[in-house]
Amino acid sequence: MRVEWTFDDGVWHLAFLLDPEDELTGLCSDGASMELRTNTCQVRLPGTATSGPGVHPDLLAVAAWTVAAPWTRKRVTFDRPISPRLAEVFRTDWDVDAGPVGADPREGTRLAISYSSGADSMAVADVFPDAPFIYFHRESHPRVPNRWPNYRADVLARLAVETGRDVTIVKSDLEFVLSRPRPGYPEHHAVLAGALLLADDMDLGAVALGYELGSRWLGGDRYILRYTPDNPMWAPEGRWGRLFTAAGLPLVLPVGGVSEAVTMRLALESDLRDHVRWCLTGSDGPCGVCGKCLYKELIQAAVERRPLRTTLKATSAVARKWQEPPPYGGQEMIEYGCAHIPGIEDTPFAAAARYLQATEASTAWLERCYPPAIDEIPEPWRKQVDAYMVDRVGLMTDDQAQRVETWGTR
Ligand SMILES: [Zn+2]
Repeated sequence: MRVEWTFDDGVWHLAFLLDPEDELTGLCSDGASMELRTNTCQVRLPGTATSGPGVHPDLLAVAAWTVAAPWTRKRVTFDRPISPRLAEVFRTDWDVDAGPVGADPREGTRLAISYSSGADSMAVADVFPDAPFIYFHRESHPRVPNRWPNYRADVLARLAVETGRDVTIVKSDLEFVLSRPRPGYPEHHAVLAGALLLADDMDLGAVALGYELGSRWLGGDRYILRYTPDNPMWAPEGRWGRLFTAAGLPLVLPVGGVSEAVTMRLALESDLRDHVRWCLTGSDGPCGVCGKCLYKELIQAAVERRPLRTTLKATSAVARKWQEPPPYGGQEMIEYGCAHIPGIEDTPFAAAARYLQATEASTAWLERCYPPAIDEIPEPWRKQVDAYMVDRVGLMTDDQAQRVETWGTR
């Protein structure tokens, strides 16, 4: 893969050209297959960005890699020299020959939050009340039709701004380099393109994301039911974690030790709660009928110990998967919801509740923080996460931590 960045009037343009061994079909680090549709995209920085073409080449290299990685097989050639530290991670963790090499390593000091307006990132914002937000705003691509026009990035951006926090909005069409299954991040880390390209401007030394217990330790959506201390996407010693650390921008998961029940509670107790939105499509409010609305309503109703509020039926298309036996994506939260919602037998989750047989006791671990998730926070930010979790959540007992570590085996 050959990569070229050009900077013009606040916009970074990325072009990448395949080498003979590269392929048009590739795999995201989470295992999803995707097809390359086009080889250009851009990232539009806010007017306040001043470093422009002077940004550190390791940041440009990692930003390009979040887009180009799925289609690259053996080598990547950047348009400016990267640090030996970064090249070494490409070689040892990715089995990719990366160069040219010749830059000094970069460092920074501040923490920014990659903010989506969802409950998980709002919980992160509560842990770090002074950290600035960077919001990734999807925009259309000049050469690729939008096959998913319902996504309302503008609404989620407005909600982020309305929090009153320091919000930087970065617009990009990079999700359209994919054609299948639909526009989306080539790698999950592409959401950090703006954070990477602004890291020198903002003196960033780390970036925090809202990935929670399920995504970090329980296999997330696609590695269903498997304890994943070695998660290649989010473990500090995973290949993505090591790459970001080498670029002087380590990944921080402040809520990596708590479930979505906890992030939901923290978001609803936060002074930002009026600006939370997990639905990607509604304008005035959540649509109430998409799969995400149904899933998050299950969690919210469970947290509030009240009946489920939904017009969806077991026969609704978005509820179909809950009529089948487990495993389910996000199964720990389905168990939690089924255990805590009065009248679950009269909801689209009735069949799942019968299969899972979860109880308040069997799901109590999902209300506490898994301590190893605190231990892996980089040192400058660990203390604040630790104090917050001890005060606001409480730590898992050894038996509860065992539930995390045997997930998928019983
Ligand atoms: Zn919705």
